[in-house]
Amino acid sequence: MSDSFVCCPFCGLLCDDLQVVQRDDRAQVASAGCARAISLFDAPAQGQALVAGKPVDLSTALRAAAEILQHARRPLVGGLACDVTGHRAALALAERLGGVVDHMNGAAQFRNWQVFQDGGWMTTTLSEVRNRADLIVLAGVDATRFPRFFERCLPPQSQQPSQFGDLQRRYIVVGDKPSPTAEHPVDVAFSIPMPNQRLGDFFLALRARLAGRRVNDPVIEGVDLAQIDALLEALRAARYGVLVWNAAELDFPNADLTIQAMVDLVITDYNMPEMDGRELTEYIRTQSWQAEVPILMVTSEQNMGRLAAVERAGVSAICDKPFEAGNIRRLISDALTR
Ligand code: SF4
Repeated sequence: MSDSFVCCPFCGLLCDDLQVVQRDDRAQVASAGCARAISLFDAPAQGQALVAGKPVDLSTALRAAAEILQHARRPLVGGLACDVTGHRAALALAERLGGVVDHMNGAAQFRNWQVFQDGGWMTTTLSEVRNRADLIVLAGVDATRFPRFFERCLPPQSQQPSQFGDLQRRYIVVGDKPSPTAEHPVDVAFSIPMPNQRLGDFFLALRARLAGRRVNDPVIEGVDLAQIDALLEALRAARYGVLVWNAAELDFPNADLTIQAMVDLVITDYNMPEMDGRELTEYIRTQSWQAEVPILMVTSEQNMGRLAAVERAGVSAICDKPFEAGNIRRLISDALTR
């Protein structure tokens, strides 16, 4: 078996810990791959070329394709369900032909990018999630699309507890997949089922509740205020909360507003490991894509010099700990309506 690791191209997780061996002209996963990776690495190296629906050999198919492309004025290279090498080849072909490219999930992807371009968001890595996240909220995510997602969120057996101590991690599911199923099942603390198309209304209601504004009960059909409050309580209690969504599944009109409702607020403390609240605020305001996002700091820090530096760095509001609920609601409300 080879000691080198291979990056798996068969879902967005891009697991890079697979070991793959060659047997009888076939690639076989020797370790770490999920069932999808095992079956797709083992697929025959070449598919069957077709011209007008009829099987032909590869060179006949290439000649037919070249003939069609030579006479095309503005060819569209679409689909692109391929790895990085395939994308490079498709881009080079489109450039040579003066054509355009479009990924099959382009519409959903660009809704994501639109929000990112407008306001940005804070991202993390799977290593950070593995070592720090004590709350993972899955918004409309079908975990079976990413078979090893939960496995990769958890520290390996050999490293328990995680690098930063024993994490009591909680999973909450919101959306039309009431419970995630994957090759590595996890216990879900609770789920709030609803169609993914209603996630935007749900997160706007959550923000309104956070800001102390009036919210109708039930919030949307089948979801009541108690469920929103339970999620809010979990988010407030979390030291490192992570929201997970998948652009391909938020593929409906105005999904960009749903994503914006999910990502547009940062609540932080001053005293944190590795980076304090001033450094975080400075980073967000000057180096991140999310320079305009409201930042609310909830802190017991008393040093006036440090707090003044945080204000200079651009924090939206500072709230003392222990905080009074009405006060924090007012500050959030102000920050969200600015
Ligand atoms: S989860 Fe499975 S299919 Fe996805 S990248 Fe990892 S090994 Fe490949």
